[in-house]
Amino acid sequence: MFGQLQDKFKKIFKTVRGHGKISEHNIDEAIREIRIALLESDVNFKVVSSFISRVKEKSLGSKVFDSVTPGQQFVKLVLDELIDFLDSKDSDINLSNKSLSVVVLSGLQGSGKTTTAAKLAGFLKREFNKQAMLIGLDLQRPAATEQLKILAENNSLPYYIESDSKDVLDVLNNGLKFAKKEKVDTVILDTAGRLHIDDNLISELKKIIDISKPSEVLYIADGMSGQDAVNSSKIFSESCDVTGCIITKLDGDSGAGASLSIKEVTGVPIKFITFGEKYLEIDRFDSNRIARRILGLDDIVGIVEKASKSISLDKISDIESKIKNDEFDLNDFRTQLDQMNNMGSLSSLVKLLPNMKKISNLNVNEKNVISTKAMLDSMTNYERENPDIINGSRRKRIALGSGTSMQKVNQLLKQFKQMKTLMKKMKNNKFGKLPF
Ligand code: GDP
Repeated sequence: MFGQLQDKFKKIFKTVRGHGKISEHNIDEAIREIRIALLESDVNFKVVSSFISRVKEKSLGSKVFDSVTPGQQFVKLVLDELIDFLDSKDSDINLSNKSLSVVVLSGLQGSGKTTTAAKLAGFLKREFNKQAMLIGLDLQRPAATEQLKILAENNSLPYYIESDSKDVLDVLNNGLKFAKKEKVDTVILDTAGRLHIDDNLISELKKIIDISKPSEVLYIADGMSGQDAVNSSKIFSESCDVTGCIITKLDGDSGAGASLSIKEVTGVPIKFITFGEKYLEIDRFDSNRIARRILGLDDIVGIVEKASKSISLDKISDIESKIKNDEFDLNDFRTQLDQMNNMGSLSSLVKLLPNMKKISNLNVNEKNVISTKAMLDSMTNYERENPDIINGSRRKRIALGSGTSMQKVNQLLKQFKQMKTLMKKMKNNKFGKLPF
Protein backbone atom coordinates (compact mmCIF):
# COMPACT_ATOMS: atom_id res chain seq x y z
CA MET A 1 0.00 0.00 0.00
CA PHE A 2 1.42 3.38 -1.06
CA GLY A 3 4.78 1.68 -1.65
CA GLN A 4 6.44 4.33 -3.81
CA LEU A 5 5.32 7.28 -1.76
CA GLN A 6 6.36 5.55 1.47
CA ASP A 7 9.85 5.02 0.10
CA LYS A 8 10.13 8.64 -0.91
CA PHE A 9 8.99 9.92 2.46
CA LYS A 10 11.33 7.56 4.27
CA LYS A 11 14.21 9.01 2.27
CA ILE A 12 13.19 12.61 2.88
CA PHE A 13 12.74 12.05 6.61
CA LYS A 14 16.03 10.19 6.87
CA THR A 15 17.86 13.17 5.41
CA VAL A 16 16.05 15.63 7.68
CA ARG A 17 16.72 13.53 10.75
CA GLY A 18 20.35 13.17 9.77
CA HIS A 19 20.97 16.87 10.36
CA GLY A 20 22.02 17.60 13.93
CA LYS A 21 20.83 21.13 13.43
CA ILE A 22 18.22 22.02 10.91
CA SER A 23 18.21 25.31 9.14
CA GLU A 24 15.40 27.07 7.38
CA HIS A 25 17.15 26.01 4.20
CA ASN A 26 16.99 22.28 5.13
CA ILE A 27 13.31 22.55 5.87
CA ASP A 28 12.69 24.34 2.57
CA GLU A 29 14.55 21.58 0.79
CA ALA A 30 12.52 18.86 2.56
CA ILE A 31 9.25 20.62 1.77
CA ARG A 32 10.28 20.92 -1.88
CA GLU A 33 10.98 17.18 -1.96
CA ILE A 34 7.64 16.41 -0.33
CA ARG A 35 5.93 18.46 -3.03
CA ILE A 36 7.72 16.50 -5.78
CA ALA A 37 6.99 13.16 -4.09
CA LEU A 38 3.28 13.94 -3.85
CA LEU A 39 3.02 15.18 -7.43
CA GLU A 40 4.87 12.11 -8.69
CA SER A 41 2.40 9.95 -6.79
CA ASP A 42 -0.45 11.44 -8.75
CA VAL A 43 -1.83 13.61 -5.99
CA ASN A 44 -3.93 16.43 -7.42
CA PHE A 45 -1.72 19.53 -7.80
CA LYS A 46 -4.17 21.83 -5.99
CA VAL A 47 -4.23 19.39 -3.10
CA VAL A 48 -0.43 19.32 -3.06
CA SER A 49 -0.26 23.13 -2.95
CA SER A 50 -2.77 23.32 -0.15
CA PHE A 51 -0.98 20.64 1.88
CA ILE A 52 2.46 22.15 1.32
CA SER A 53 1.36 25.61 2.34
CA ARG A 54 -0.10 24.20 5.56
CA VAL A 55 3.12 22.35 6.39
CA LYS A 56 5.19 25.44 5.57
CA GLU A 57 3.06 27.67 7.71
CA LYS A 58 3.21 25.28 10.65
CA SER A 59 6.94 24.66 10.39
CA LEU A 60 7.67 28.38 10.37
CA GLY A 61 5.17 29.01 13.14
CA SER A 62 6.55 26.28 15.37
CA LYS A 63 10.18 27.16 14.68
CA VAL A 64 11.02 23.57 13.94
CA PHE A 65 14.66 24.32 13.27
CA ASP A 66 15.20 25.73 16.79
CA SER A 67 13.96 22.60 18.47
CA VAL A 68 16.17 20.15 20.38
CA THR A 69 15.13 17.32 18.08
CA PRO A 70 14.44 19.23 14.90
CA GLY A 71 14.18 16.23 12.54
CA GLN A 72 11.76 14.44 14.80
CA GLN A 73 9.79 17.59 15.28
CA PHE A 74 9.45 18.11 11.55
CA VAL A 75 8.27 14.54 10.90
CA LYS A 76 5.69 14.88 13.67
CA LEU A 77 4.49 18.12 12.16
CA VAL A 78 4.04 16.57 8.69
CA LEU A 79 2.26 13.60 10.24
CA ASP A 80 -0.13 15.80 12.23
CA GLU A 81 -0.92 17.90 9.18
CA LEU A 82 -1.56 14.82 7.08
CA ILE A 83 -3.90 13.31 9.68
CA ASP A 84 -5.75 16.59 9.82
CA PHE A 85 -5.86 16.73 6.06
CA LEU A 86 -7.37 13.25 5.70
CA ASP A 87 -9.68 13.45 8.66
CA SER A 88 -13.36 14.16 8.37
CA LYS A 89 -15.93 14.26 11.11
CA ASP A 90 -18.53 12.12 9.40
CA SER A 91 -16.36 9.23 8.34
CA ASP A 92 -18.52 6.60 10.10
CA ILE A 93 -21.15 4.81 8.10
CA ASN A 94 -24.68 6.13 8.71
CA LEU A 95 -27.40 3.56 9.02
CA SER A 96 -30.91 4.83 9.45
CA ASN A 97 -32.99 4.29 12.56
CA LYS A 98 -35.82 3.02 10.40
CA SER A 99 -36.47 -0.68 10.07
CA LEU A 100 -34.60 -0.81 6.77
CA SER A 101 -31.37 1.10 6.04
CA VAL A 102 -30.37 1.51 2.43
CA VAL A 103 -26.78 1.90 1.23
CA VAL A 104 -26.25 2.70 -2.45
CA LEU A 105 -22.94 1.85 -4.08
CA SER A 106 -22.15 3.85 -7.21
CA GLY A 107 -19.15 4.24 -9.45
CA LEU A 108 -17.57 3.33 -12.75
CA GLN A 109 -17.42 -0.16 -14.19
CA GLY A 110 -14.62 -2.24 -12.73
CA SER A 111 -14.06 0.02 -9.74
CA GLY A 112 -15.01 -2.80 -7.39
CA LYS A 113 -18.68 -2.16 -6.58
CA THR A 114 -19.91 -5.74 -6.63
CA THR A 115 -16.95 -7.08 -4.68
CA THR A 116 -17.24 -4.23 -2.18
CA ALA A 117 -20.99 -4.80 -1.76
CA ALA A 118 -20.28 -8.25 -0.33
CA LYS A 119 -17.33 -7.03 1.75
CA LEU A 120 -19.41 -4.22 3.20
CA ALA A 121 -22.23 -6.60 4.12
CA GLY A 122 -19.65 -8.77 5.92
CA PHE A 123 -18.23 -5.74 7.69
CA LEU A 124 -21.68 -4.62 8.87
CA LYS A 125 -22.34 -8.12 10.15
CA ARG A 126 -19.05 -8.34 12.06
CA GLU A 127 -19.03 -4.81 13.44
CA PHE A 128 -22.70 -3.96 13.96
CA ASN A 129 -24.42 -7.33 13.86
CA LYS A 130 -26.45 -6.12 10.87
CA GLN A 131 -28.07 -8.45 8.39
CA ALA A 132 -27.48 -6.81 5.02
CA MET A 133 -29.10 -8.04 1.82
CA LEU A 134 -27.37 -7.42 -1.50
CA ILE A 135 -29.59 -6.26 -4.35
CA GLY A 136 -28.13 -6.56 -7.84
CA LEU A 137 -29.03 -3.48 -9.88
CA ASP A 138 -26.13 -3.68 -12.30
CA LEU A 139 -28.01 -4.78 -15.39
CA GLN A 140 -25.34 -3.24 -17.66
CA ARG A 141 -22.52 -5.68 -17.09
CA PRO A 142 -23.75 -9.12 -18.20
CA ALA A 143 -22.02 -11.12 -15.46
CA ALA A 144 -22.62 -8.66 -12.63
CA THR A 145 -25.73 -10.25 -11.13
CA GLU A 146 -24.21 -13.73 -11.39
CA GLN A 147 -21.06 -12.43 -9.65
CA LEU A 148 -23.19 -10.92 -6.89
CA LYS A 149 -25.03 -14.21 -6.43
CA ILE A 150 -21.80 -16.21 -6.16
CA LEU A 151 -20.26 -13.74 -3.69
CA ALA A 152 -23.43 -13.76 -1.58
CA GLU A 153 -23.73 -17.54 -1.57
CA ASN A 154 -20.05 -18.06 -0.78
CA ASN A 155 -20.34 -15.78 2.22
CA SER A 156 -23.84 -16.75 3.38
CA LEU A 157 -25.31 -13.33 2.65
CA PRO A 158 -28.95 -12.81 1.64
CA TYR A 159 -29.37 -11.41 -1.88
CA TYR A 160 -31.93 -10.47 -4.49
CA ILE A 161 -31.33 -10.57 -8.25
CA GLU A 162 -33.50 -10.87 -11.37
CA SER A 163 -31.43 -12.43 -14.12
CA ASP A 164 -33.75 -11.60 -17.02
CA SER A 165 -35.07 -8.20 -16.05
CA LYS A 166 -34.18 -5.13 -18.10
CA ASP A 167 -35.83 -2.61 -15.79
CA VAL A 168 -33.64 -1.48 -12.92
CA LEU A 169 -36.44 0.29 -11.04
CA ASP A 170 -38.62 -2.83 -11.19
CA VAL A 171 -35.80 -4.90 -9.71
CA LEU A 172 -35.27 -2.24 -7.05
CA ASN A 173 -38.92 -2.17 -6.00
CA ASN A 174 -39.16 -5.96 -5.97
CA GLY A 175 -35.88 -6.21 -4.09
CA LEU A 176 -36.97 -3.74 -1.41
CA LYS A 177 -40.25 -5.66 -0.96
CA PHE A 178 -38.32 -8.92 -0.67
CA ALA A 179 -35.95 -7.38 1.90
CA LYS A 180 -38.90 -6.25 4.04
CA LYS A 181 -40.48 -9.67 3.78
CA GLU A 182 -37.22 -11.33 4.79
CA LYS A 183 -36.93 -8.83 7.67
CA VAL A 184 -33.32 -7.87 6.98
CA ASP A 185 -32.30 -4.52 8.51
CA THR A 186 -30.05 -3.24 5.72
CA VAL A 187 -29.88 -3.45 1.94
CA ILE A 188 -26.84 -2.70 -0.18
CA LEU A 189 -27.65 -1.69 -3.74
CA ASP A 190 -25.03 -2.66 -6.31
CA THR A 191 -25.79 -0.19 -9.11
CA ALA A 192 -24.63 -0.23 -12.71
CA GLY A 193 -21.33 1.25 -13.72
CA ARG A 194 -20.34 2.55 -17.14
CA LEU A 195 -16.92 2.96 -18.67
CA HIS A 196 -17.43 6.72 -18.52
CA ILE A 197 -19.87 8.86 -16.64
CA ASP A 198 -22.84 9.67 -18.86
CA ASP A 199 -26.30 11.18 -18.45
CA ASN A 200 -28.04 7.80 -18.46
CA LEU A 201 -25.91 6.56 -15.59
CA ILE A 202 -26.52 9.65 -13.48
CA SER A 203 -30.25 9.78 -14.23
CA GLU A 204 -30.63 6.08 -13.32
CA LEU A 205 -28.73 6.66 -10.09
CA LYS A 206 -30.89 9.66 -9.21
CA LYS A 207 -34.06 7.59 -9.69
CA ILE A 208 -32.65 4.80 -7.52
CA ILE A 209 -31.85 7.34 -4.80
CA ASP A 210 -35.34 8.89 -5.10
CA ILE A 211 -37.09 5.58 -4.65
CA SER A 212 -34.87 3.94 -2.05
CA LYS A 213 -34.16 6.98 0.17
CA PRO A 214 -30.75 5.74 1.25
CA SER A 215 -28.89 6.77 4.38
CA GLU A 216 -25.65 6.45 2.43
CA VAL A 217 -24.71 6.92 -1.21
CA LEU A 218 -21.13 5.70 -1.39
CA TYR A 219 -18.95 6.37 -4.38
CA ILE A 220 -16.53 3.54 -5.15
CA ALA A 221 -13.23 4.98 -6.37
CA ASP A 222 -10.64 2.71 -7.91
CA GLY A 223 -7.44 3.52 -6.01
CA MET A 224 -5.36 2.27 -8.90
CA SER A 225 -6.75 4.78 -11.36
CA GLY A 226 -5.21 7.86 -9.75
CA GLN A 227 -6.48 11.21 -11.02
CA ASP A 228 -9.29 9.54 -13.00
CA ALA A 229 -10.82 8.33 -9.75
CA VAL A 230 -10.60 11.83 -8.33
CA ASN A 231 -12.15 13.46 -11.41
CA SER A 232 -15.01 10.97 -11.62
CA SER A 233 -15.71 11.24 -7.89
CA LYS A 234 -15.96 15.01 -8.35
CA ILE A 235 -18.51 14.65 -11.17
CA PHE A 236 -20.52 12.08 -9.21
CA SER A 237 -20.56 14.15 -6.06
CA GLU A 238 -21.67 17.22 -8.00
CA SER A 239 -24.46 15.32 -9.75
CA CYS A 240 -25.92 13.30 -6.87
CA ASP A 241 -25.92 13.50 -3.11
CA VAL A 242 -22.89 11.33 -2.55
CA THR A 243 -22.40 10.94 1.21
CA GLY A 244 -19.10 9.10 1.28
CA CYS A 245 -16.46 7.33 -0.66
CA ILE A 246 -14.79 3.93 -0.60
CA ILE A 247 -11.32 3.67 -2.09
CA THR A 248 -10.63 0.22 -3.48
CA LYS A 249 -7.50 -1.66 -4.53
CA LEU A 250 -5.15 -0.03 -2.07
CA ASP A 251 -3.20 -3.29 -1.98
CA GLY A 252 -1.26 -2.03 -4.99
CA ASP A 253 1.54 0.50 -4.80
CA SER A 254 -0.61 3.32 -6.10
CA GLY A 255 -3.63 4.80 -4.43
CA ALA A 256 -1.97 7.65 -2.63
CA GLY A 257 -3.21 10.11 -5.25
CA ALA A 258 -6.83 9.15 -4.77
CA SER A 259 -6.56 8.78 -1.00
CA LEU A 260 -5.06 12.19 -0.53
CA SER A 261 -7.09 14.06 -3.10
CA ILE A 262 -10.69 12.87 -2.96
CA LYS A 263 -11.80 14.44 0.29
CA GLU A 264 -10.11 17.73 -0.46
CA VAL A 265 -11.43 17.91 -4.05
CA THR A 266 -15.00 16.70 -3.41
CA GLY A 267 -15.54 17.49 0.25
CA VAL A 268 -16.89 13.95 0.58
CA PRO A 269 -15.48 11.88 3.46
CA ILE A 270 -13.67 8.63 2.76
CA LYS A 271 -15.44 5.96 4.81
CA PHE A 272 -13.79 2.67 3.86
CA ILE A 273 -10.80 1.27 2.06
CA THR A 274 -10.39 -2.13 0.44
CA PHE A 275 -7.04 -3.76 -0.05
CA GLY A 276 -7.47 -7.08 -1.80
CA GLU A 277 -9.97 -9.25 -3.59
CA LYS A 278 -10.90 -11.30 -0.56
CA TYR A 279 -14.06 -10.87 1.47
CA LEU A 280 -12.34 -9.65 4.63
CA GLU A 281 -10.13 -7.14 2.88
CA ILE A 282 -12.07 -4.04 3.82
CA ASP A 283 -11.61 -1.65 6.71
CA ARG A 284 -12.78 1.69 8.03
CA PHE A 285 -10.82 4.63 6.70
CA ASP A 286 -8.66 5.55 9.66
CA SER A 287 -6.88 8.86 8.95
CA ASN A 288 -4.24 8.28 11.60
CA ARG A 289 -3.35 4.85 10.32
CA ILE A 290 -3.40 5.91 6.67
CA ALA A 291 -1.27 8.99 7.33
CA ARG A 292 1.34 6.87 9.12
CA ARG A 293 1.23 4.42 6.27
CA ILE A 294 1.66 7.09 3.59
CA LEU A 295 4.62 8.55 5.45
CA GLY A 296 6.22 5.16 5.86
CA LEU A 297 5.87 5.26 9.66
CA ASP A 298 4.78 1.67 9.90
CA ASP A 299 2.90 0.49 12.93
CA ILE A 300 1.55 -2.76 14.25
CA VAL A 301 -0.84 -2.94 11.32
CA GLY A 302 2.16 -2.98 9.01
CA ILE A 303 3.47 -5.99 10.84
CA VAL A 304 0.13 -7.72 10.69
CA GLU A 305 0.04 -7.01 6.96
CA LYS A 306 3.55 -8.37 6.51
CA ALA A 307 2.48 -11.45 8.32
CA SER A 308 -0.48 -11.84 6.00
CA LYS A 309 1.87 -13.09 3.33
CA SER A 310 2.56 -16.17 5.39
CA ILE A 311 -0.43 -16.73 7.63
CA SER A 312 -4.14 -16.81 7.05
CA LEU A 313 -6.36 -13.75 7.30
CA ASP A 314 -8.36 -15.36 10.08
CA LYS A 315 -5.22 -15.78 12.14
CA ILE A 316 -4.21 -12.19 11.50
CA SER A 317 -7.51 -10.75 12.58
CA ASP A 318 -7.36 -13.05 15.59
CA ILE A 319 -3.93 -11.70 16.54
CA GLU A 320 -4.98 -8.14 15.79
CA SER A 321 -8.02 -8.44 18.01
CA LYS A 322 -5.93 -10.07 20.75
CA ILE A 323 -3.53 -7.15 20.63
CA LYS A 324 -6.42 -4.71 20.65
CA ASN A 325 -8.09 -6.45 23.60
CA ASP A 326 -4.84 -6.84 25.47
CA GLU A 327 -5.14 -10.62 25.32
CA PHE A 328 -1.89 -11.37 23.54
CA ASP A 329 -0.21 -14.06 25.66
CA LEU A 330 2.86 -16.27 25.53
CA ASN A 331 0.98 -18.88 23.50
CA ASP A 332 0.46 -16.26 20.80
CA PHE A 333 4.07 -15.25 21.14
CA ARG A 334 5.07 -18.90 20.60
CA THR A 335 2.87 -19.10 17.48
CA GLN A 336 4.47 -15.92 16.22
CA LEU A 337 7.94 -17.38 16.63
CA ASP A 338 6.83 -20.34 14.53
CA GLN A 339 5.58 -18.02 11.81
CA MET A 340 8.83 -16.10 11.83
CA ASN A 341 10.53 -18.48 9.43
CA ASN A 342 8.12 -17.48 6.72
CA MET A 343 8.14 -13.82 7.51
CA GLY A 344 11.82 -13.00 7.46
CA SER A 345 14.10 -12.49 10.36
CA LEU A 346 12.94 -11.52 13.80
CA SER A 347 15.17 -8.49 13.80
CA SER A 348 13.75 -7.15 10.54
CA LEU A 349 10.26 -7.53 11.93
CA VAL A 350 11.15 -5.86 15.19
CA LYS A 351 12.61 -2.92 13.28
CA LEU A 352 9.12 -2.16 12.06
CA LEU A 353 7.94 -1.48 15.56
CA PRO A 354 8.03 2.19 16.45
CA ASN A 355 9.82 2.92 19.73
CA MET A 356 11.38 -0.53 19.76
CA LYS A 357 14.86 0.94 19.85
CA LYS A 358 14.08 2.51 23.17
CA ILE A 359 13.33 -0.75 24.89
CA SER A 360 16.33 -1.77 26.92
CA ASN A 361 17.96 -5.15 26.51
CA LEU A 362 15.68 -6.17 23.71
CA ASN A 363 17.11 -9.40 22.45
CA VAL A 364 16.55 -9.80 18.76
CA ASN A 365 19.45 -12.16 18.15
CA GLU A 366 18.22 -14.88 15.84
CA LYS A 367 20.15 -17.53 17.82
CA ASN A 368 18.06 -16.74 20.84
CA VAL A 369 14.89 -17.73 19.03
CA ILE A 370 15.75 -21.38 19.63
CA SER A 371 16.30 -20.99 23.37
CA THR A 372 13.21 -18.75 23.60
CA LYS A 373 11.13 -21.50 22.01
CA ALA A 374 12.64 -24.03 24.42
CA MET A 375 11.66 -21.84 27.39
CA LEU A 376 8.14 -21.36 26.08
CA ASP A 377 7.81 -25.09 25.50
CA SER A 378 8.90 -25.76 29.09
CA MET A 379 5.97 -23.73 30.41
CA THR A 380 2.53 -25.15 30.93
CA ASN A 381 -0.31 -23.89 28.78
CA TYR A 382 -1.73 -22.14 31.85
CA GLU A 383 1.56 -20.38 32.46
CA ARG A 384 1.72 -19.19 28.86
CA GLU A 385 -1.81 -17.85 29.20
CA ASN A 386 -1.04 -16.17 32.52
CA PRO A 387 2.62 -15.16 32.54
CA ASP A 388 2.11 -13.19 35.76
CA ILE A 389 1.84 -16.40 37.80
CA ILE A 390 5.35 -17.51 36.82
CA ASN A 391 7.07 -17.13 40.19
CA GLY A 392 10.57 -18.05 41.33
CA SER A 393 10.09 -21.81 41.58
CA ARG A 394 8.28 -21.96 38.24
CA ARG A 395 11.09 -19.95 36.65
CA LYS A 396 13.63 -22.41 38.06
CA ARG A 397 11.68 -25.35 36.61
CA ILE A 398 11.42 -23.64 33.19
CA ALA A 399 15.14 -22.86 33.19
CA LEU A 400 15.98 -26.48 33.99
CA GLY A 401 13.47 -27.85 31.48
CA SER A 402 14.77 -25.69 28.65
CA GLY A 403 18.44 -26.07 29.45
CA THR A 404 18.80 -22.32 29.88
CA SER A 405 19.19 -20.24 33.04
CA MET A 406 17.02 -18.36 35.52
CA GLN A 407 18.53 -15.19 34.17
CA LYS A 408 17.35 -16.04 30.64
CA VAL A 409 13.84 -16.88 31.82
CA ASN A 410 13.69 -13.59 33.75
CA GLN A 411 14.87 -11.76 30.68
CA LEU A 412 12.22 -13.36 28.45
CA LEU A 413 9.41 -12.52 30.85
CA LYS A 414 10.65 -8.97 31.21
CA GLN A 415 10.81 -8.51 27.46
CA PHE A 416 7.34 -9.94 27.01
CA LYS A 417 6.02 -7.48 29.59
CA GLN A 418 7.69 -4.61 27.74
CA MET A 419 6.23 -5.82 24.48
CA LYS A 420 2.74 -5.87 26.00
CA THR A 421 3.18 -2.33 27.27
CA LEU A 422 4.25 -1.26 23.83
CA MET A 423 1.26 -2.94 22.20
CA LYS A 424 -1.01 -1.16 24.64
CA LYS A 425 0.57 2.16 23.70
CA MET A 426 0.11 1.41 20.03
CA LYS A 427 -3.48 0.47 20.59
CA ASN A 428 -4.14 3.75 22.34
CA ASN A 429 -1.94 5.66 19.93
CA LYS A 430 -0.19 7.29 22.82
CA PHE A 431 2.97 8.29 21.05
CA GLY A 432 4.26 11.31 22.76
CA LYS A 433 7.23 11.19 20.46
CA LEU A 434 7.86 9.50 17.21
CA PRO A 435 10.46 6.75 17.03
CA PHE A 436 13.33 8.69 15.48
P1 GDP B 1 -17.64 -3.48 -10.52
O1 GDP B 1 -17.69 -3.53 -12.03
O2 GDP B 1 -17.51 -2.08 -10.05
O3 GDP B 1 -18.75 -4.22 -9.87
O4 GDP B 1 -16.26 -4.17 -10.10
P2 GDP B 1 -15.96 -5.62 -9.49
O5 GDP B 1 -16.47 -5.74 -8.11
O6 GDP B 1 -16.37 -6.67 -10.48
O7 GDP B 1 -14.38 -5.57 -9.41
C1 GDP B 1 -13.56 -5.42 -10.56
C2 GDP B 1 -12.25 -6.19 -10.31
O8 GDP B 1 -11.53 -5.57 -9.28
C3 GDP B 1 -12.48 -7.62 -9.88
O9 GDP B 1 -11.52 -8.44 -10.50
C4 GDP B 1 -12.26 -7.59 -8.37
O10 GDP B 1 -11.81 -8.83 -7.88
C5 GDP B 1 -11.18 -6.52 -8.28
N1 GDP B 1 -11.16 -5.87 -6.98
C6 GDP B 1 -12.17 -5.32 -6.26
N2 GDP B 1 -11.72 -4.80 -5.10
C7 GDP B 1 -10.38 -5.01 -5.08
C8 GDP B 1 -9.33 -4.68 -4.15
O11 GDP B 1 -9.52 -4.07 -3.09
N3 GDP B 1 -8.07 -5.08 -4.51
C9 GDP B 1 -7.80 -5.73 -5.66
N4 GDP B 1 -6.55 -6.07 -5.92
N5 GDP B 1 -8.76 -6.04 -6.55
C10 GDP B 1 -10.02 -5.70 -6.27
